[in-house]
Amino acid sequence: MNGKRGLLIGRMQPVHKGHISVIKETLKEVDELIIGIGSAEKSHTHSNPFTGGERILMLTKALREYNIDPSRYYIIPLEDISCNSLWVGHVKMLTPPFSKVYSGNSLVQQLFEEENINVIQPPLFNRREYSGTEVRRRIINNNEDWKKLVPKSVSQVIKEIKGVERIQKLNQKEESELV
Ligand code: NAD
Repeated sequence: MNGKRGLLIGRMQPVHKGHISVIKETLKEVDELIIGIGSAEKSHTHSNPFTGGERILMLTKALREYNIDPSRYYIIPLEDISCNSLWVGHVKMLTPPFSKVYSGNSLVQQLFEEENINVIQPPLFNRREYSGTEVRRRIINNNEDWKKLVPKSVSQVIKEIKGVERIQKLNQKEESELV
């Protein structure tokens, strides 16, 4: 630990075990971690089925399930803005001060680096399976194995908010619109 506060941003559509691994690893390097829920205003689309609030619920329950000390992180919803060149300032306005950004997203890396903020690319854990796209794909295909990719508490939240039905319905709508 080096007395540092880091920032990690993810859409988390939904929160999966890759996110938990990267959060656990990053907490070995920083004292406190700000976890930004990206595209917080988006929901009810194929790529962004869950609301910002639902994703906060998933993450809060998952971090509790994994016994991660709540005094070590802040969960902050971050809405997208249309100007990429102003985005870092927008994020800084909404978050506690931080000295390092952890991201595997190349646009996120570029925007912070251009503002001279130190960016670290964390290692990926089983990215083929631990990805939001893969979780949503399995849900659409009625493949129950999607539950293995997310913390148990996240599958419980998805059940509570009827998330499987929502994703399947959104997929039906998009297919019918193609006809
Ligand atoms: P994501 O949920 O795909 O990933 C979040 C983080 O988790 C990434 O750093 C990624 O490296 C890591 N991760 C994902 N799967 C992993 C795995 N299996 N193992 C280890 N780590 C894993 O989210 P994202 O797409 O990176 O989110 C970026 C957000 O920033 C988006 O919401 C985007 O809209 C937002 N953004 C907005 C603007 C703007 O508003 N102008 C500009 C840039 C970015």
